[in-house]
Amino acid sequence: MARRIDALIVGAGFAGLYALHKMREIGVVAHAFEMADDVGGVWYWNRYPGARCDVESVQYSYSFSDDLQQEWDWTERFAQQPEILAYLNHVADRFDLRRSISFGTGIVSAAFDDETQLWHVRDDKGEEYIARYCVMASGSLSASRLPDLPGIEDFDGPVFHTGAWPEDAPEFADQNVAVIGTGSSGIQAIPQIAKSAEHLYVFQRTPNFVIPARNQPLAAETLAKYKAEYPVLRARAKQVGTLYDFSETPAFEVSAEEREAEYQHRWDQGGVNFVHAFNDIMTDLEANQTAADFVHARIRGAVDDPVVAEQLCPKDYPLGAKRICVGTDYYETYNRSNVTLVDLQESPITQVSAGAIETRDVTIPIDMIVCATGYDALTGALARIDIRGRGGVSLTDKWAAGPRNYLGLMCVDFPNMFFITGPGSPSVLVNMVVGIEQHVDWIADCIIHLEASGATSMVPTAAAESKWVQRVNDEASKTLFPKASSWYLGANIPGKPHVFMPFVGGIGRYRAICDQVAADGYSGFEISQGD
Ligand code: FAD
Ligand code: NAP
Repeated sequence: MARRIDALIVGAGFAGLYALHKMREIGVVAHAFEMADDVGGVWYWNRYPGARCDVESVQYSYSFSDDLQQEWDWTERFAQQPEILAYLNHVADRFDLRRSISFGTGIVSAAFDDETQLWHVRDDKGEEYIARYCVMASGSLSASRLPDLPGIEDFDGPVFHTGAWPEDAPEFADQNVAVIGTGSSGIQAIPQIAKSAEHLYVFQRTPNFVIPARNQPLAAETLAKYKAEYPVLRARAKQVGTLYDFSETPAFEVSAEEREAEYQHRWDQGGVNFVHAFNDIMTDLEANQTAADFVHARIRGAVDDPVVAEQLCPKDYPLGAKRICVGTDYYETYNRSNVTLVDLQESPITQVSAGAIETRDVTIPIDMIVCATGYDALTGALARIDIRGRGGVSLTDKWAAGPRNYLGLMCVDFPNMFFITGPGSPSVLVNMVVGIEQHVDWIADCIIHLEASGATSMVPTAAAESKWVQRVNDEASKTLFPKASSWYLGANIPGKPHVFMPFVGGIGRYRAICDQVAADGYSGFEISQGD
């Protein structure tokens, strides 16, 4: 017999764990399903060498419990994957969450019953659950994607994806290793793998802008200061996401020397803060070019071989329009005698054979392939579930021309189904833990409202949804983001519609919009009452 749950949660990463805790807090019977064997989400799956966050750990952490943030001691500015995973395990234990999570259990379908106004959900073991609410915490960067390379199935060595890294770390010593992909994951893994591989070949299709992390151990005094100031810092983070030093000055309002000094200052500090050196870097191409020129000069300064340096300089898209990368010794790694950059723009991969990768010009003997080739971002994990709303309409069909929803939170025809940090919300453009907490809190308030008013379902109106989709597009078109073929636009997935998916208007403005909608009695939504 189908098990009855008030709120069914898909995923047990940062979002699923907090959603579970919050549902319990408001007295809703909740249960989470996680296809991995343990908690952690991204931080369970991404065990590749060098994996760490690039939002400072003191900020890339939950704010919902002061006790939690006071008792947990981060050891580095940007924690490594094992430390973040340990933190999420601590959260699961501390709040006694595991008893309400089914691990090793993938959700495969969810169908809305028009008559009962309930969701019928199935897992990959054939079990059925009936839920009033579905909370999709399945992740924006969880549907990893292997490259579609001719012959890769004939390769006789191991093939790893950074986002599905085995628990037993592979040995790189004496191996000719290929890393395909130079996004955030690749640029973190490359310097680490280079340290032990016999030879590392980096297959680069598009170079990325890589800002040094300047990672360092977190001094006890620094940590203590953060903890003392948490009330103020977290309140500000709710408005801006990450506490960067956001400039209010346009790039050409200062002299060339002042600009250079500002970039150098931020380069020396390290991290994504670099992108906020001037307030028009993401809206004005010429301003953006000044930042790009600065990074190009640093690349040319760091890399000994001038040909390799040019190949590493991104020139086809504005800085920041693809997710900026934060790395350690990335460019310097190309000075090692055991590292070779293979520029796929000059010589694309033509074939993978049993023991080699062939490009148009060379055949390179390879023992192991590391695919840092990214994700079917924002919509991929949802598309892997057969989700059918009112009248049997499928979410995949509804989103065939690009994701459509209201506030990024809910969709027409999919009552009581909430999406966490998916398309249409600030999502991957901000500190995601801040976005997750905002979404979960809003959803909890919404469920309290529905339960208190005896409502059976809530769904956006078509008009509200269309208006929001237009707004998300309009906000993006004011920026340089659409000028790169990025995963923000779905450009990395063949056949995926090119639509800029996240809301670029900022978490503060977005939060205010969501709060106003709630304050107005959930304007833009239709609420159905029970009998
Ligand atoms: P996830 O952590 O992706 O968790 C989703 C979970 O849902 C997964 O465990 C998955 O197995 C499970 N799941 C999916 N589908 C199903 C299904 N059908 N059935 C059952 N379970 C399912 N963001 C930042 O803000 N700062 C950073 O520094 C940062 N660093 C990152 C580093 C890496 C390597 C990656 C890949 C992402 C990073 N991100 C970062 C983005 C990251 O996605 C978020 O910060 C955050 O971890 C997302 O949490 P989540 O719970 O929403 O999703
Ligand atoms: P990504 O940014 O999508 O990068 C994938 C890389 O693989 C790109 O260089 C891409 O080239 C290349 N690629 C894809 N298919 C290929 C193919 N068939 N042949 C050759 N090259 C191919 O993925 P990611 O690096 O995993 O990062 C995804 C996101 O996760 C990041 O943007 C970030 O938000 C998050 N992340 C954060 C951190 C962190 O530092 N905190 C670390 C890792 C990930 P093209 O550009 O040409 O498509």
